[in-house]
This record gives sequence, structure tokens and C-alpha cells, in this order.
Amino acid sequence: MVKKHLLLAPGPTPVPHEILLEGAKETIHHRTPEFVKILEETLEDIKYVFQTQNPVYVLASSGTGALETAVVNLVNPGEKAIIVEAGKFGERWAEIAKAYRINVVSIKLEWGEAVTCEMIRKALDENPDAKVVFTTYSETSTGTVIDLENIAKLTKDTDVILVTDAVSGLLAEPLKMDEWGVDVVVSGAQKGWMLPPGIAFIAINDKAWKKVESSQNNSYYFNLKKYKKSAPDNPWTTPVNLIYMLNKAVKMIKEEGMEEVWARHKLYGEATRTAVKALGLELFSKRPGNVLTAVNSPVPAGKLTKIMRDKYGVTIAAGQDQYKDSMFRISHLGYLTPFDIITGITALEFALKELGVDVQVGKGVSAALEVLYKGVVGK
Ligand SMILES: *Cc1c(COP(=O)(O)O)cnc(C)c1O
Repeated sequence: MVKKHLLLAPGPTPVPHEILLEGAKETIHHRTPEFVKILEETLEDIKYVFQTQNPVYVLASSGTGALETAVVNLVNPGEKAIIVEAGKFGERWAEIAKAYRINVVSIKLEWGEAVTCEMIRKALDENPDAKVVFTTYSETSTGTVIDLENIAKLTKDTDVILVTDAVSGLLAEPLKMDEWGVDVVVSGAQKGWMLPPGIAFIAINDKAWKKVESSQNNSYYFNLKKYKKSAPDNPWTTPVNLIYMLNKAVKMIKEEGMEEVWARHKLYGEATRTAVKALGLELFSKRPGNVLTAVNSPVPAGKLTKIMRDKYGVTIAAGQDQYKDSMFRISHLGYLTPFDIITGITALEFALKELGVDVQVGKGVSAALEVLYKGVVGK
């Protein structure tokens, strides 16, 4: 059977050929005026994606590098930080903080739950000496999105800094950094940006910058003071070709418009959730978002993902850690059309059937189609 590859995993996600071709351009020296001009223009343009007027720094790392940057620049060893842990990536915040000997006050939840404003208010009340709160906007290990807009209201007019991991959440979920008053937002290229892995982002407002200035910054490579000093150039060798690609990606995002990008993810999320439920399966998350859909798997998830990938060319993800076998995750993130969603659901139905699950082939697809049709044609 002919096989085409379709990435429906929550990173890496598909990259359009227009962007791939930018990466094939000649590599010029990163300190030339010609390149610094491109970098400067790109760094200005990407503010739109964060809905901010604040500076955004590009790091040559995966998303985790941006998480580490936020931690090490904002909190000193021995200082307290409140960290929401409701899945793999919340736990990562805590692991990084502990590696830098930060005093972690954890809001620990079951995977699949979403932190509430009340929980954060309580943690802040009980820990008036904690000046930074680390959250995960879209917890990719559980498909859960938090009410970031209202959480930001708790910290907005205080001296507490709100940091969010929007590595997967940015572009897929509405996020208005300045309007909502989120102080630090981090993201990563291989999620909603339509880019390959290799760069990450950190946007930081004035309130958070004051804290950076008074902190020790116990990292050499991820020291934001060095980034600010050399801006718009990077302190280290910039990944030149990835910046060409980023430049193109942001132009495409601007042309589509953030509202449209958010609406697209919302529609695909709704279609996928509807399809999965029509197949008689259950969602894992208590507050599902539009980055990905996490599903309680009726079969060992590794077997399912293997058939989908090896036989049908569709890459989805199994669960992580303790949910490795009992959950699968279909992403609807990045450069995807409504037809890609249908392909994904079709491959899921075939593979489930093949593994002996009693599903009616076409039932998920037609449920998804109905949602997509209304969203695309029916308006
Ligand atoms: C993908 C992801 C990360 C970072 O992962 P990397 O592999 O380092 O790029 C961090 N947080 C969330 C929520 C993610 O989805």
C-alpha cells in the first residue's frame, strides 16, 4: 500500500514546503548586517504571535531550554516558587527548579485535572514569600488546558510573576500576553509554529525583567542578561537557517491572522473529540483543550500507535509515564487541514478494528465530518 506520512503527534508537527524551502537557502554569517536585519525583523514580527509589545528572545534549544531559561533567570537558589504539577510538563518545571536548588511549593494534581484560580490563590496566601508561579497552559501529557486568563487576574496587579509554559499552547489556544497580564510566556518551534524542532522562545514583560535583573542567573548559556545586551543579535551563533524558516512561518501566521489560527485549532479539537466519543471512547482530560485530544485507550496504546504509523503512515502518540499503555494522544496542532483530521480518524478506526475493538468503521469519521462541514462550509 502506498503510504504518506502524517504527523498527528503533539510535536514535531508538519512543516509546509514553503517553510522547508526557506531552510534550504544559503547560510550566511550570523554577524553580518544582512542577517542581523532579518533577525531583528523576525523578532519584531513574532511579538504578534504572543500578542505582546514586550521583547521575545529566541533560543537555540528545544522547548525545555526555554523552561530552564525562565527558572534560572527568575528565581534564586533557596528562594520559593509555586509550581503547578498536573502532568509530565508541570513535573518538568519542578525538576528543573530542584536542579537549581529552588524551594518548590508544589500544587500537585491528578493527571488530567486543571488547576483552578482558587488553588493558586490559596498557595499564594499560604506562601507570601513566593514571588513566582509556574504554570503549564496546555499540559501536553494529558490534553488539558487551564484558565490562564482568569489565573492572570490574580497576579496582574501584584509583585508576583506568572510564568506559563505555552510550548504547545501558543497558537492553538488564545493567549493575549499583554491584555491578560501574563508576565513570562515560553514556547517551542515544533508545536504550533509549523517549524521543525531546534528553537524555543521566551517573552518577558517589564515586571518580570526587574526580577531577572536582581537574580543571580546561575546559567551561562541561558542567561537572559546576555541576550538583552546583544539584542537584536544573539549572544551565541544563531541558527541562521531556522531563522529564515521562522521569518516565513510568522509571515504565514500573520496572513492567516491569530483569530483564524485559534479558530482552526478549536474546530479541529471539537471535531476530534466528537469523533472519539462517537466511537464510544472516553476523553482522558477533565478540561480538554485544542492542542491535542488524549483518549483512554481500549487497547495497549503502543500497539495502536505502531499500526497507525507503520501500516497507515499516521503518527500519533501514546501516553507518557504511568499512562504509557492506557492513553493515546492525537494532536490537531499546527499545519493541518480538515482533511488531515479525517485521515487521522480513519486510520484510528482501522487500527482499532484490527486490534479487535468493537467500533463501527466510519462512525467517528462521519461525526468529525459533520463538525468540520459546519465549521468550514456551513458558515
Ligand atoms: C513539547 C513540550 C515541552 C518541551 O519539550 P522539548 O522536547 O524540550 O521541545 C515543554 N512543555 C510542553 C507543554 C510541551 O508540550
